[in-house]
Amino acid sequence: MNIDLSAALPHLAPLAVAWAEQHASKISLHGHPLTDHQIGLARKVGVANPEKNRLAYVHQLPLPEDPQLSQAAVQIGMLGPSMIGLALGYSIYICNGHESDRLLRHECRHTYQFEKAGSIAAYLPGYLEQVLRFGYWNAPYEIDARNHEVDA
Ligand SMILES: [Zn+2]
Repeated sequence: MNIDLSAALPHLAPLAVAWAEQHASKISLHGHPLTDHQIGLARKVGVANPEKNRLAYVHQLPLPEDPQLSQAAVQIGMLGPSMIGLALGYSIYICNGHESDRLLRHECRHTYQFEKAGSIAAYLPGYLEQVLRFGYWNAPYEIDARNHEVDA
């Protein structure tokens, strides 16, 4: 059964923020810093502090343990099996076998958006609102990230 996500958002957004912050801090401790080449790409898409970025390579993106949050994430198409990357502030998950400059630029553009917002708590609820309102593909933050996957 599908969740009424708009009704659930006020309840789910703080859970999503807590989940994202938890994973971001784990990756910030154990993730890989960007290579010089990757720092160049991150700067190109607007990241102000790419030396703070960290990458974690995973078999698949982790799902939240909270069953409602996990179902919501899959329902809006965020953490399903077709997802190959996820930016949580400076921390970025990349699925093994999908590493590419294009994916890195996309995820780093989300880091740029997060930098503009100032924190995960300031960024993520707005991002989720966009996804609920416009759909994942048409969310303005996603369109902006796709527009930065390659040089214009
Ligand atoms: Zn994206």
